[in-house]
Amino acid sequence: MTKPVILTGDRTTGPLHLGHYAGSLRTRLRHQDDHDQYLLLADMQAMTDNAQEPAKVRRNVIEVALDYLAVGIDPTRTTICLQSHLPALAELSMLYLNFVTVARLERNPTIKDEIRARGFGRDIPAGFLCYPAAQAADITGFKATVVPVGEDQAPLIEQTNEIVRRINATAGSDVLPEAQAVIPKSGRLPGIDGRTKMSKSGGNAIPLSASPDAIRAAVKAMFTDPGHLRVEDPGRIEGNAVFTYLDAFDEEETALEELKAHYRRGGLGDGTIKKRLEEILQELIGPIRTRRKHYAEDLTYVIDVIRRGTERARERTETTRRDVVAALGLFQL
Ligand code: ATP
Ligand code: MG
Repeated sequence: MTKPVILTGDRTTGPLHLGHYAGSLRTRLRHQDDHDQYLLLADMQAMTDNAQEPAKVRRNVIEVALDYLAVGIDPTRTTICLQSHLPALAELSMLYLNFVTVARLERNPTIKDEIRARGFGRDIPAGFLCYPAAQAADITGFKATVVPVGEDQAPLIEQTNEIVRRINATAGSDVLPEAQAVIPKSGRLPGIDGRTKMSKSGGNAIPLSASPDAIRAAVKAMFTDPGHLRVEDPGRIEGNAVFTYLDAFDEEETALEELKAHYRRGGLGDGTIKKRLEEILQELIGPIRTRRKHYAEDLTYVIDVIRRGTERARERTETTRRDVVAALGLFQL
């Protein structure tokens, strides 16, 4: 039996962080055996809001690939590939843009949030506004049905499926499958400021390559409950970044529930909860950092992994492109 196909990816805008781990990497690790999995190094999507910094987009291809390998993505089971070297995806993107309106792109809640966060005002790069169509090409180019992503991506999967339905309706056959987003219950991880989502571009991230000192400093600076001034005061869990992180990374659920109850009652200092979180994060990131260092010393191997994965992906996406063009009945030579 053929395995269901997973496609996910990451923009090559910076090293991956704990938000990626909680939001998506953890799910990808679990599915390496029971799914046919593709990870896209999304350098073209990174260009949509980093056009003035191509060197940054190029450099981070290796950084993100190193993060994949460091967390345990195994290239013999998961295909790692580079978006800019998959021309069929660009061709499908151009085609899909005809199946979506500008008004619909502007209404996409994720795009709206991101336009605001980037302060584009009215000067939105056209490629940025259109990236949902390109992302639809990425997902459908692999004929993926499962997309493990953070909560912020749900509207993009919805928009992908709208495009799929329009194409299938025009073709008169189900040439493309619809995709299902797999979103973890922990939701989106906030940055250490406790306000916006942790993001590479937000300056509020704990990278998966963080040093022990950087982890310590990040936890120390983390937002808790501003009303919790003395140890004996009752504290709030909601909106308290330390507890949000404990929810995402502490596997001892009963102990965590007791800790929360104690904090709510009062008598538990921020130092104690931060100490627990720091221990958990040091334990999680330590082995990732060691493996990352090992792979960083062998970049020839890393580049080879990307090259071989991209070749495999090129065949698959080219087949889809041909299927779509044929299903729509366009002229073929
Ligand atoms: P950028 O700031 O450049 O947009 P990013 O940190 O938002 O980078 P992306 O490459 O856009 O990262 O996202 C890759 C994947 O990781 C997506 O599936 C996204 O939903 C998930 N993700 C990113 N940040 C978080 C977060 N803080 N919590 C949960 N999931 C996240
Ligand atoms: Mg993002």
